[in-house]
Amino acid sequence: MNQKLETIKQNVITCTKCDLCKTRTNAVPGKGNIQSDVIFVGEAPGRNEDKSGEPFVGVAGKKLSIALEEAKISRDSVYITNIVKCRPPNNRVPSTSERETCQKYLKEEISIIKPKIICILGNTAFNSILGGSEITKFRGKIVRKDNQLYFLTIHPAATIYNQKLIDVLKSDIVKLFDLIRELKNDKEIKIDIEYAS
Ligand code: SF4
Repeated sequence: MNQKLETIKQNVITCTKCDLCKTRTNAVPGKGNIQSDVIFVGEAPGRNEDKSGEPFVGVAGKKLSIALEEAKISRDSVYITNIVKCRPPNNRVPSTSERETCQKYLKEEISIIKPKIICILGNTAFNSILGGSEITKFRGKIVRKDNQLYFLTIHPAATIYNQKLIDVLKSDIVKLFDLIRELKNDKEIKIDIEYAS
Protein backbone atom coordinates (compact mmCIF):
# COMPACT_ATOMS: atom_id res chain seq x y z
CA MET A 1 0.00 0.00 0.00
CA ASN A 2 1.11 3.53 -0.72
CA GLN A 3 2.76 5.14 2.33
CA LYS A 4 0.32 8.06 2.49
CA LEU A 5 -2.69 5.74 2.31
CA GLU A 6 -1.05 3.52 4.91
CA THR A 7 -0.73 6.55 7.21
CA ILE A 8 -4.44 7.33 6.78
CA LYS A 9 -5.25 3.69 7.46
CA GLN A 10 -3.25 3.71 10.70
CA ASN A 11 -4.81 7.03 11.76
CA VAL A 12 -8.30 5.63 11.13
CA ILE A 13 -7.60 2.40 12.99
CA THR A 14 -6.49 4.30 16.09
CA CYS A 15 -8.92 7.23 15.76
CA THR A 16 -10.94 8.31 18.81
CA LYS A 17 -12.23 11.61 17.43
CA CYS A 18 -15.92 10.73 17.76
CA ASP A 19 -18.02 8.48 19.97
CA LEU A 20 -18.32 5.77 17.31
CA CYS A 21 -14.89 4.60 18.48
CA LYS A 22 -16.51 3.44 21.73
CA THR A 23 -18.85 0.93 20.10
CA ARG A 24 -16.84 -0.29 17.11
CA THR A 25 -15.01 -3.60 16.97
CA ASN A 26 -12.73 -2.41 14.20
CA ALA A 27 -12.47 0.88 12.37
CA VAL A 28 -12.79 0.37 8.61
CA PRO A 29 -10.39 2.38 6.46
CA GLY A 30 -10.88 2.63 2.70
CA LYS A 31 -9.38 -0.09 0.56
CA GLY A 32 -8.34 -0.56 -3.02
CA ASN A 33 -6.20 0.63 -5.87
CA ILE A 34 -4.42 3.95 -5.35
CA GLN A 35 -4.42 4.43 -9.13
CA SER A 36 -8.15 3.92 -9.43
CA ASP A 37 -10.05 6.30 -11.71
CA VAL A 38 -12.96 6.15 -9.30
CA ILE A 39 -13.56 6.22 -5.55
CA PHE A 40 -16.80 4.63 -4.38
CA VAL A 41 -18.15 6.28 -1.24
CA GLY A 42 -20.80 4.56 0.86
CA GLU A 43 -22.36 5.51 4.19
CA ALA A 44 -20.68 3.56 6.98
CA PRO A 45 -19.44 0.09 7.89
CA GLY A 46 -22.07 -2.52 8.80
CA ARG A 47 -21.81 -5.57 11.02
CA ASN A 48 -19.55 -7.62 8.72
CA GLU A 49 -17.29 -4.70 7.99
CA ASP A 50 -17.03 -3.90 11.70
CA LYS A 51 -15.99 -7.51 12.36
CA SER A 52 -13.46 -7.73 9.56
CA GLY A 53 -12.15 -4.15 9.37
CA GLU A 54 -12.73 -4.11 5.58
CA PRO A 55 -15.26 -2.06 3.61
CA PHE A 56 -18.18 -3.60 1.69
CA VAL A 57 -17.60 -7.24 2.60
CA GLY A 58 -21.19 -8.01 3.65
CA VAL A 59 -24.33 -8.52 1.59
CA ALA A 60 -24.27 -4.93 0.28
CA GLY A 61 -20.65 -5.46 -0.74
CA LYS A 62 -21.67 -8.54 -2.73
CA LYS A 63 -24.26 -6.45 -4.55
CA LEU A 64 -21.60 -3.89 -5.41
CA SER A 65 -19.35 -6.69 -6.69
CA ILE A 66 -22.19 -8.01 -8.87
CA ALA A 67 -22.69 -4.54 -10.36
CA LEU A 68 -18.93 -4.19 -10.99
CA GLU A 69 -18.88 -7.62 -12.67
CA GLU A 70 -21.67 -6.41 -14.96
CA ALA A 71 -19.33 -3.60 -16.03
CA LYS A 72 -16.45 -6.13 -16.31
CA ILE A 73 -14.51 -4.33 -13.61
CA SER A 74 -12.61 -6.14 -10.85
CA ARG A 75 -13.01 -4.92 -7.28
CA ASP A 76 -9.25 -4.80 -6.87
CA SER A 77 -8.98 -2.18 -9.57
CA VAL A 78 -11.10 0.40 -7.74
CA TYR A 79 -11.00 2.16 -4.36
CA ILE A 80 -13.90 1.78 -1.93
CA THR A 81 -14.53 3.75 1.24
CA ASN A 82 -17.24 5.26 3.44
CA ILE A 83 -18.29 8.63 4.83
CA VAL A 84 -17.64 7.42 8.39
CA LYS A 85 -15.09 4.73 9.09
CA CYS A 86 -16.69 3.20 12.21
CA ARG A 87 -19.99 1.35 12.45
CA PRO A 88 -22.85 3.31 14.02
CA PRO A 89 -24.70 1.17 16.62
CA ASN A 90 -27.54 -0.85 15.06
CA ASN A 91 -26.53 0.52 11.67
CA ARG A 92 -28.21 3.86 12.36
CA VAL A 93 -27.44 6.72 9.99
CA PRO A 94 -24.29 8.51 11.19
CA SER A 95 -25.03 11.89 12.77
CA THR A 96 -24.02 15.17 11.17
CA SER A 97 -21.38 15.64 13.82
CA GLU A 98 -19.92 12.14 13.26
CA ARG A 99 -19.83 12.73 9.51
CA GLU A 100 -18.17 16.11 9.87
CA THR A 101 -15.59 14.76 12.30
CA CYS A 102 -14.69 11.86 10.01
CA GLN A 103 -14.67 13.77 6.72
CA LYS A 104 -11.00 14.69 6.97
CA TYR A 105 -10.08 11.07 6.20
CA LEU A 106 -12.21 11.01 3.07
CA LYS A 107 -10.72 14.31 1.94
CA GLU A 108 -7.24 12.87 2.42
CA GLU A 109 -8.13 9.71 0.47
CA ILE A 110 -9.47 11.85 -2.39
CA SER A 111 -6.44 14.15 -2.40
CA ILE A 112 -4.05 11.19 -2.66
CA ILE A 113 -5.95 9.12 -5.22
CA LYS A 114 -7.17 12.08 -7.28
CA PRO A 115 -9.96 10.08 -8.95
CA LYS A 116 -11.40 11.17 -12.27
CA ILE A 117 -14.79 10.71 -10.69
CA ILE A 118 -16.26 10.00 -7.26
CA CYS A 119 -19.17 7.56 -7.22
CA ILE A 120 -21.61 8.51 -4.48
CA LEU A 121 -23.50 5.49 -3.16
CA GLY A 122 -26.79 6.45 -1.54
CA ASN A 123 -28.40 9.32 0.32
CA THR A 124 -26.01 9.71 3.24
CA ALA A 125 -22.98 10.09 1.00
CA PHE A 126 -24.97 12.35 -1.34
CA ASN A 127 -26.00 14.56 1.56
CA SER A 128 -22.57 14.58 3.21
CA ILE A 129 -20.57 15.36 0.07
CA LEU A 130 -22.93 17.51 -1.98
CA GLY A 131 -25.70 18.47 0.44
CA GLY A 132 -28.20 16.54 -1.69
CA SER A 133 -31.19 14.36 -0.90
CA GLU A 134 -33.55 11.97 -2.70
CA ILE A 135 -30.85 9.98 -4.48
CA THR A 136 -33.47 7.95 -6.34
CA LYS A 137 -34.46 11.11 -8.22
CA PHE A 138 -30.89 12.01 -9.09
CA ARG A 139 -29.26 8.61 -9.60
CA GLY A 140 -27.46 8.11 -12.88
CA LYS A 141 -26.56 11.80 -13.07
CA ILE A 142 -23.16 13.40 -13.43
CA VAL A 143 -22.35 16.32 -11.16
CA ARG A 144 -19.44 18.74 -11.27
CA LYS A 145 -18.37 20.80 -8.28
CA ASP A 146 -15.04 22.59 -7.82
CA ASN A 147 -13.63 20.80 -10.88
CA GLN A 148 -14.37 17.38 -9.37
CA LEU A 149 -16.80 15.06 -11.11
CA TYR A 150 -19.29 12.96 -9.19
CA PHE A 151 -21.61 10.18 -10.29
CA LEU A 152 -24.75 9.49 -8.28
CA THR A 153 -26.27 6.10 -7.65
CA ILE A 154 -28.18 4.15 -5.03
CA HIS A 155 -26.51 2.42 -2.09
CA PRO A 156 -26.01 -1.32 -2.83
CA ALA A 157 -27.82 -2.10 0.46
CA ALA A 158 -31.01 -0.71 -1.11
CA THR A 159 -30.95 -3.61 -3.56
CA ILE A 160 -30.99 -6.31 -0.86
CA TYR A 161 -34.73 -6.20 -0.27
CA ASN A 162 -35.70 -4.83 -3.65
CA GLN A 163 -34.53 -7.06 -6.48
CA LYS A 164 -35.63 -4.56 -9.11
CA LEU A 165 -33.03 -2.12 -7.83
CA ILE A 166 -30.12 -4.45 -8.60
CA ASP A 167 -30.77 -3.83 -12.29
CA VAL A 168 -30.75 -0.09 -11.58
CA LEU A 169 -27.43 -0.37 -9.77
CA LYS A 170 -25.94 -2.53 -12.52
CA SER A 171 -26.95 -0.15 -15.29
CA ASP A 172 -25.64 2.85 -13.33
CA ILE A 173 -22.26 1.18 -12.76
CA VAL A 174 -22.01 0.23 -16.45
CA LYS A 175 -22.80 3.87 -17.30
CA LEU A 176 -20.16 5.05 -14.83
CA PHE A 177 -17.40 3.01 -16.48
CA ASP A 178 -18.54 4.03 -19.97
CA LEU A 179 -18.16 7.57 -18.74
CA ILE A 180 -14.70 6.88 -17.32
CA ARG A 181 -13.63 5.47 -20.70
CA GLU A 182 -14.83 8.65 -22.37
CA LEU A 183 -12.93 10.78 -19.86
CA LYS A 184 -9.75 8.78 -20.51
CA ASN A 185 -10.21 9.38 -24.23
CA ASP A 186 -10.60 13.13 -23.59
CA LYS A 187 -14.13 13.08 -24.90
CA GLU A 188 -16.51 15.87 -23.98
CA ILE A 189 -19.05 14.64 -21.46
CA LYS A 190 -22.44 16.06 -20.60
CA ILE A 191 -22.66 17.39 -17.04
CA ASP A 192 -26.17 17.00 -15.65
CA ILE A 193 -25.78 19.21 -12.58
CA GLU A 194 -23.24 21.98 -12.13
CA TYR A 195 -22.71 23.15 -8.54
CA ALA A 196 -21.54 26.68 -7.86
CA SER A 197 -18.27 26.85 -5.90
S1 SF4 B 1 -16.03 7.40 12.73
FE1 SF4 B 1 -14.24 8.48 11.92
S2 SF4 B 1 -13.92 10.22 13.35
FE2 SF4 B 1 -15.24 8.72 14.39
S3 SF4 B 1 -13.82 7.44 15.58
FE3 SF4 B 1 -14.20 6.41 13.59
S4 SF4 B 1 -12.51 7.08 12.28
FE4 SF4 B 1 -12.61 8.50 14.01
